[in-house]
Amino acid sequence: MSNKRALLTVTLLVVLPLFLLSCATTGPGGKQSFILIPTGQEVAIGAGMAEQVEQQEKVFADTIWQNYLNNVGQKIAVVCDRKDIEYHFKVIESDQINAFAAPGGYIYFYTGLLREMENEAEMAAVMAHEISHVVGRHGIKRLQTTLGVAAAYQLVFGEEGASDVLNVAIGIGMNLMFADYSRDNEREADEYGIHYMVQAGYHPDGAIGMFEKLAALGGGGEHNVFEKLASTHPATQERIRNAKTQIAGMQPLPADVTLGEAKYRQMLGRIPAKK
Ligand SMILES: [Zn+2]
Repeated sequence: MSNKRALLTVTLLVVLPLFLLSCATTGPGGKQSFILIPTGQEVAIGAGMAEQVEQQEKVFADTIWQNYLNNVGQKIAVVCDRKDIEYHFKVIESDQINAFAAPGGYIYFYTGLLREMENEAEMAAVMAHEISHVVGRHGIKRLQTTLGVAAAYQLVFGEEGASDVLNVAIGIGMNLMFADYSRDNEREADEYGIHYMVQAGYHPDGAIGMFEKLAALGGGGEHNVFEKLASTHPATQERIRNAKTQIAGMQPLPADVTLGEAKYRQMLGRIPAKK
């Protein structure tokens, strides 16, 4: 290989990936990250995952609850730092104490978790945490890592075979759905979440109430407790401490933040009894 050609090859190898990476806002204050899989593909993967979730799980047949969850979700989505996607919120009828976000803005809540919450602000705290995983691109980054760069490139270029890659990505996404995020991702989602819920008009005490309730439930046994918050898990106490510190730094809070107790109590009456 001539020196010239070698130089050209090296240049291409170094420069090409930079063109493929795009810079995206992934947090409050204009925080930026490099993302390989573009938003369109992320949404396609999330939509495919949502389709499978809704085939496997029972979507709660109560439009009043579905609208209520959606209203709270959209209130937080409006103030969050990611506006390039549509957010979708759905309640699943199941006693599991859980909630999760698929990439691209598809967020699900189980009635088992909603039943444990005492006011709208506690539900909003979970909601804002899940939205923050989407804003931080935590799910798609984790998927990108598992897929590997080669498959991710194929997704980006969308050439023949790309739909196979898309299906593989959806399958891997389903397997990763209940896997733990890294501690850094959790810390980030907790922090952004408290910030967003207050901007949306909720009292941040809802976040403390939510953490403490779920910690008291424990994560062991048959329960699949949200984000594996268990009283034995040392990280939980750390998360509560961090939340308290963050809230202390937000004083004075806006005067109109609410817990939304009356409305939530009314909505709790619509959730079927535990089986
Ligand atoms: Zn989380």
